[in-house]
Amino acid sequence: MTTPTQFADSVMNTYARLPVAFERGQGAWLYDSNEEQYLDAISGIGVVGLGHAHPAVTRTIQEQAGKLLHTSNLYHITAQSTLAQELTSITGMSKAFFCNSGAEANEAAIKLARLYGNERHIDQPQILVMERAFHGRTLATLSASGNRKIQAGFEPLVRGFVRAPLNDIDALFHVAKNNKNIVAILFETIQGEGGVHLADTAYLEAVRTLCDVQNWLMMLDEVHSGNGRTGKYFAYQHSRIQPDVVVTAKGLGNGIPIGVMLTNDKTSTLFKPGHHGSTFGGNPFACTVAQTVVKTLFNDRLIERAATLGERMLSGLQAKLEGADYIVDIRGKLATHKKF
Ligand code: PLP
Repeated sequence: MTTPTQFADSVMNTYARLPVAFERGQGAWLYDSNEEQYLDAISGIGVVGLGHAHPAVTRTIQEQAGKLLHTSNLYHITAQSTLAQELTSITGMSKAFFCNSGAEANEAAIKLARLYGNERHIDQPQILVMERAFHGRTLATLSASGNRKIQAGFEPLVRGFVRAPLNDIDALFHVAKNNKNIVAILFETIQGEGGVHLADTAYLEAVRTLCDVQNWLMMLDEVHSGNGRTGKYFAYQHSRIQPDVVVTAKGLGNGIPIGVMLTNDKTSTLFKPGHHGSTFGGNPFACTVAQTVVKTLFNDRLIERAATLGERMLSGLQAKLEGADYIVDIRGKLATHKKF
């Protein structure tokens, strides 16, 4: 292992970093400058789903780098249209807006919800968000997040968020009765940063019904849980609901920055030219790589494999650790979600 002093450098100190740097990766493994091997158990925080140096991704990157990286969104981008078509056919959504990160995808969703509210003449539109939520580090997304630590010092926060506990449908009924300014609900199908808390299927279905009754947009943040990681392309696809908006990023590019907001018929026409944009978002390079990622996930049956491995991991943890007095809970998507 390298010593911490070797890393005293000019990079701003915004992360409590571990004293190691990696030179290369292969599959699930990372190697430091001494060729010491480390298992990348968190895959770059839910990003490198196909593994490091995946041959299909590497090939696409090499080919596309020699063809075309970027044009801007002043022109049509064939790779963007193709990726949008693929993602909408996987989900049954109708359109895609591309950006570069999870926070940006959530920003797009927040802006869309405000536009939706303002068009319905709700002049102070508010969005319901969850306790323990994490939606990103931009001002609007950290204001939507339910973690005081990431907000402290950045006040004034962005207004227009109302918070409720996850999986408590009565709390939402209460808000619906008392607050006529709500226009949307935004939450993670599986909370990641907040501690792997799953939205129950019954809750997802009840929220869908409530949104239909109240005319609220149901917006899901699948930045972390999307792209095949739970045994479905999106975690909400374990249920029968269809959201009005779903956002993802992370695993979509396997390390190439890309984010996307997918919208349905109700929400697809809200943004018009001039409402939102991104210089890099959806460029030919990122979209071509993401196409390869999506294709590989399906062709190599990796989504099914994620389900099998997830089940093995969860049942293994339960078998080994269940009942231990230092264990509070074992949580995961597949198999039985057991609380004890
Ligand atoms: N939403 C969720 C659920 C996340 O887990 C994250 C990142 O961890 C984000 C949004 C923010 O994504 P990014 O770091 O790409 O901006």
